[in-house]
Amino acid sequence: MAEILVLVEHVDGAVKKVTLELLTLARTLGSPSAVWAGPGYSPDIQAKLAEYGADKIYVADAADLADHVVAPKAELLAQLVSTATPAGVLVAATAEGKEVAGRLAVKTDSGIITDAVGLGEGFTAEQSIFGGGVNVTSRVTKGTPIIAVRPNATTPEPSPAAGTEQRVEVTLSDTARLAHVVDRVKQEKGARPELTEAAIVVSGGRGVGSAENFSIIEKLADSLGAAVGASRAATDAGWYPHQFQVGQTGKTVAPQLYIAAGISGAIQHRAGMQTAKTIIAINKDPEAPIFELADFGVVGDLHQIVPQLTEEVEKR
Ligand code: FAD
Repeated sequence: MAEILVLVEHVDGAVKKVTLELLTLARTLGSPSAVWAGPGYSPDIQAKLAEYGADKIYVADAADLADHVVAPKAELLAQLVSTATPAGVLVAATAEGKEVAGRLAVKTDSGIITDAVGLGEGFTAEQSIFGGGVNVTSRVTKGTPIIAVRPNATTPEPSPAAGTEQRVEVTLSDTARLAHVVDRVKQEKGARPELTEAAIVVSGGRGVGSAENFSIIEKLADSLGAAVGASRAATDAGWYPHQFQVGQTGKTVAPQLYIAAGISGAIQHRAGMQTAKTIIAINKDPEAPIFELADFGVVGDLHQIVPQLTEEVEKR
């Protein structure tokens, strides 16, 4: 079976959910080989990757792989592309994953597809382009297909495999060492899931009205175990931090469920959320463009509807 490399995204010694999604997708195309870069590899990680279908795990855990931002990961993958000649490479369409994918494409003279939301036979990728305005099916025609897949493009399904470990030595080039990590500042981790990985996102827009009112959005999010997002109108007004902005100039999310409250549905907002599986819009204007996109719409005042919804969810 064709070998498919899957770059493992990890934080604090834990494999991120998106990697399990990539392994699940890779299984539909061939035999997944996980690629671990950086220190922190452990038997627990091996077990996790094997549980989700990694037949092989390439482990490059030299400390300096984590000291030079993303370039070492691209060099490691390029080395594996030349030695293992995989049928394709999957990375997460995160800020880091996309940068690794771009560098890898240059190094291996291969085609790249970013922001894929689905994968089909022959590495065809469903892709969202032009700020999310158009969905296309694309295929790489040169080199080894390198595909960056958005988080939440599929549900991770376990399917135990061998998880055979293979150690890899990488000799970093001088170019890879040009950028050096000088400090790491840990972001405070709240109880909510990370926005780009969350299965449910509840977002508030200008209609929320104030920073204080965002508490009703947070309450609904907490009742659903969801992440909180915001439109740019809300973040620009200082009602919610910019790191939670969803859209063209914010984060891209593809959750199972996206609830947009008091958001009109401008193209720049849609660009960041329109591949959500189910979209619910709450807006007092029945003509709001978000309703063109929504699977379910509630016309009314969010200040009444959102607390009622929270109450109903909490009863269950
Ligand atoms: P509005 O468009 O003002 O809509 C507010 C909505 O709330 C209205 O539909 C209204 O009917 C409804 N409403 C009001 N009160 C209530 C109530 N009590 N109950 C229910 N509904 C109510 N925007 C983003 O979101 N993300 C981006 O990344 C982004 N990037 C951009 C990049 C560029 C280059 C540009 C030019 C713009 C960008 N924007 C982005 C801005 C975007 O064009 C819109 O201005 C923005 O999305 C509007 O946010 P909103 O929907 O919250 O506000």
